[in-house]
Amino acid sequence: MHYRSESVSVSALAPGKIVCVGRNYAEHARELGNSVPESPVLFMKPNTSLCHWQDNFSIPNGRGECHHELELALLIKSPLSQAREEDCLSAVAAVGLALDLTLRDEQTQLKQAGKPWEMAKAFDGACPISAWIPVPEELDSLTLELVVNGQLRQRGNSADMLWSPQQLLHYISQFFTLNPGDIVLTGTPSGVAALSPGDEVVGQLGDLLTVSGKVINE
Ligand code: ZN
Repeated sequence: MHYRSESVSVSALAPGKIVCVGRNYAEHARELGNSVPESPVLFMKPNTSLCHWQDNFSIPNGRGECHHELELALLIKSPLSQAREEDCLSAVAAVGLALDLTLRDEQTQLKQAGKPWEMAKAFDGACPISAWIPVPEELDSLTLELVVNGQLRQRGNSADMLWSPQQLLHYISQFFTLNPGDIVLTGTPSGVAALSPGDEVVGQLGDLLTVSGKVINE
């Protein structure tokens, strides 16, 4: 896929890997019965999981509940490897909103069996993404909202993250080099729930960005 952007030049960046952070909001960790972690929980999605959120996106059929996880997404423009925290934000080209779609029933079974989560989180289309906008000044105090069929499902603020965007980038870069075109998903606030075909899914990032799509069957 190609990135769409709103007044920010990101079209030269080829989509790379997506590094995701689990449990970066204490309320969400608790709602799934998980403890609040001592360090960020990292996992990845491949670039084949990317799709456009705007207009419509699909969810897998016949594989149990597929949950929305609304997340602030960071698009990387320059390499970060073993980076100092103070150098990390300058490597971010743009921000957007993403859905870390999760086959929750499958994930629960995988977790109980001690298996990796990829089948539940890395499938084709598992990462609907908005257009990109320039990095706002107020990165550490952005409101994220997800409205499904007119009802508020998730509301969070980046101020409530256990690890801030720059702390996450610093941490991730100690283990995985982030390259231009890579994306970091910064975790979801509470309120995750199942999506169904026909749902209207609207994401809002403060008054900076709105993205709207309809769920269609695979
Ligand atoms: Zn997530």
